[in-house]
Amino acid sequence: MISLVYSEDYKKHDDPHHPENKERLNVIMSALKNEGVLDEVDVISPELASREDILRVHPKAHVDYIESFSKKGGGYLDFDTYATPDTYQIARLSAGGAITASELVLNGYKSAYSLARPPGHHATSNRVMGFCIFNNMAIAIEYLKEVHKIKKFLIFDFDAHYGNGTADIFYQDHDVLYISIHQDPRTIFPGTGYIREIGSGSGEGYNLNIPMPPGSNTQDYVYILQKILPPVAQQFGADFYFVDVGFDGHMDDPLSSLSLKDDFFEWIATKMMEITESMVLILEGGYDLNALSRCNIRMIEALKDNKKGTDYYKNYYKNDLKVSDETKRRYKKIKDMFSPFFKL
Ligand SMILES: [Zn+2]
Repeated sequence: MISLVYSEDYKKHDDPHHPENKERLNVIMSALKNEGVLDEVDVISPELASREDILRVHPKAHVDYIESFSKKGGGYLDFDTYATPDTYQIARLSAGGAITASELVLNGYKSAYSLARPPGHHATSNRVMGFCIFNNMAIAIEYLKEVHKIKKFLIFDFDAHYGNGTADIFYQDHDVLYISIHQDPRTIFPGTGYIREIGSGSGEGYNLNIPMPPGSNTQDYVYILQKILPPVAQQFGADFYFVDVGFDGHMDDPLSSLSLKDDFFEWIATKMMEITESMVLILEGGYDLNALSRCNIRMIEALKDNKKGTDYYKNYYKNDLKVSDETKRRYKKIKDMFSPFFKL
C-alpha cells in the first residue's frame, strides 16, 4: 500500500513567475484525480515540523532569519530562491511532510511519497539555495536517528541537479549513503557533484555521484543504475531508504538538458522496489507541467502495483540497451574510484 502525504497549504508558497510554483502540485493532484489513482492510495496530511526538528539540521540564527524574512513580507533570499509571508510556515510543513512520510513507512506502508514544496535538496545547513528553504530529507533523517534510533540510511536522488545540500550535510557521515545521478555539473546548477566528491573523514566512500552527460537518455540511466544501485545498496545494508524524486531530467523539462522519457520514472520505481521493501519518496524538481503530471502517474502507479511493473521491466530492459560510450566510461571511472569501498 502506498500513501501520499499532501496538503493544500503547500500552495501558499508561490510565485507564478518562477518555475517552482504552485501549479506543479495542481497538475500532479488533478492528474491523480482524473486517472482514478487518488481512490486507490491513502492521502494523509503532513504534521508541521517542530522548531526542534528543524534545529537538528539548521542553526538557530539561520532559522530565525528565514522566519523574520517571511514575516516582513518575503522577497528573494538569493538570486533564485523566493519567500512569501507564509514561506517559513510552509517550509516547516514541507519538512514535516518528510517526517510524516517516514512515520507512515515505520507504521507499515510499503512506500510513502511526500508531495511537498518548497523542495529541499539544495538547502545546506546554513544557506537557502536553488528554490530550497529547509533540507526536508535531512530533517527527516535526523528525526529518525534521534526519535527512533534508526542508524543507517540510503538516499537515492535522481533529480537532474545534484542535491548538494543533502550531500554536504552528510558528507562526513558513514551512516548516510548518498547516491545521486544528475546532469554533469559542468553544464548545470549547482556546479558540483563530480565523481571525485566521495565524502570525507569517516564519510569517505559514502557520497556516490553519477554525473551524466547532457543528452543522456533512459537507456543510459538504466545501464549505469543497474550496475551501481543494487550492489552498492546490498553491500551497504541500510535500515531505511529515501528516494529524492525529481522529474527535471525529462527531455521536455526546461531546466535540464537530459533526455529521459516517461518510462524512466516507472522503471526507477520498479528498480527501487527490487532493492528495498519500503521507502520514503520526497518530491524535488520537475518543471514541465505535462511531463511532471504524466511521470508522477507512471511512478505512483508502479509503486501501487509492485508486481506488474517489475515483471514488465525485467523483460523490457534485459537485452539490447543502446548506451553511449561516455556512459560506459563513466561507469568504469566510478567502479575504479569506489573500489576501496564497494565492489562493483
Ligand atoms: Zn532539480
